[in-house]
Amino acid sequence: MKDSVDVAVIGAGHAGLNAVKEIRKVTDNWMLLNGGPLGTTCARIGCMPSKIAIHLADTFKMRDRFDRYGVAGGDQLQLDQTTALEHVRDLRDTFVDLVLANTTDEMDAAHLVDGYAEIVDAHTIHVGDREIKTDNMIVATGARSIIPPHWADKFGNGILTVDNLFDLDELPESVAVIGLGPIGLEIGRLLGASMVGPQCEHLAHLICWAIESGMTVQRALEMPFYHPVIEEAFQDALLDLRNELAQSTTKRRYIFFEPRVAPCTGA
Ligand SMILES: Cc1cc2nc3c(=O)[nH]c(=O)nc-3n(C[C@H](O)[C@H](O)[C@H](O)COP(=O)(O)OP(=O)(O)OC[C@H]3O[C@@H](n4cnc5c(N)ncnc54)[C@H](O)[C@@H]3O)c2cc1C
Repeated sequence: MKDSVDVAVIGAGHAGLNAVKEIRKVTDNWMLLNGGPLGTTCARIGCMPSKIAIHLADTFKMRDRFDRYGVAGGDQLQLDQTTALEHVRDLRDTFVDLVLANTTDEMDAAHLVDGYAEIVDAHTIHVGDREIKTDNMIVATGARSIIPPHWADKFGNGILTVDNLFDLDELPESVAVIGLGPIGLEIGRLLGASMVGPQCEHLAHLICWAIESGMTVQRALEMPFYHPVIEEAFQDALLDLRNELAQSTTKRRYIFFEPRVAPCTGA
């Protein structure tokens, strides 16, 4: 079977779906090719379930501070992991349904093709026995976890990735998180790790927010934190910074938090 389209988009994640949204404004002769489950990585196994799980973990963790707020009995609280993880999956499924309803559900078979695409040359794509000719390709195939083969040999099904983490009924008693990027930090945090790296994405977001709001370090430390996930990291970083500032004698000390008030113009 041969098709010819103006634009072929490979991958129906956020990137591919947004590309299609723009393409539809200029032509109806497009095709979206997707292998694997629809619903986007973000909604199925990424941003959305992770934020729900982190929120849940942080809510439970709050029990350690209840006595500071005058609430007694925090140490008696129990977490039913099975129910908690079911809640994560329920909300995740709602998000996936919303994504599907607003995107691929309303696409017909002439536009949405199920299967992994293989780029044959600059104008030809194969999906199974289907050949698609096009002058314009958008490759939006995302990323996926890779397990080195010798790890799989050694640990068997003891290896978790975001593909299966949120499908567990109970979390393992101990887990080593490998990879200290934003995703590793988030997963570590929701599993109960108490340390996060100073380079993490969320910390950067918060620092940008503090800069945009023209805050001093002191003021930022007084603020309620809108994202509990990075509260500790942000506080630690700010406390370190305050200590450094206390010892500093140069104007450079204002560079992060009061750029509009006292921009750094040199030493
Ligand atoms: C735990 C976790 C938390 C995250 N948190 C955040 C966050 O807070 N904020 C944020 O911005 N990002 C976050 N991300 C990252 C975000 O989820 C991804 O960056 C984003 O979903 C990538 O979108 P995409 O469209 O590029 O790819 P995807 O959504 O992965 O879509 C790619 C699609 O292409 C398909 N495909 C692959 N190869 C082929 C092929 N050859 N032919 C046809 N189809 C193919 C795939 O099966 C998939 O359906 C998080 C990710 C994870 C895992």
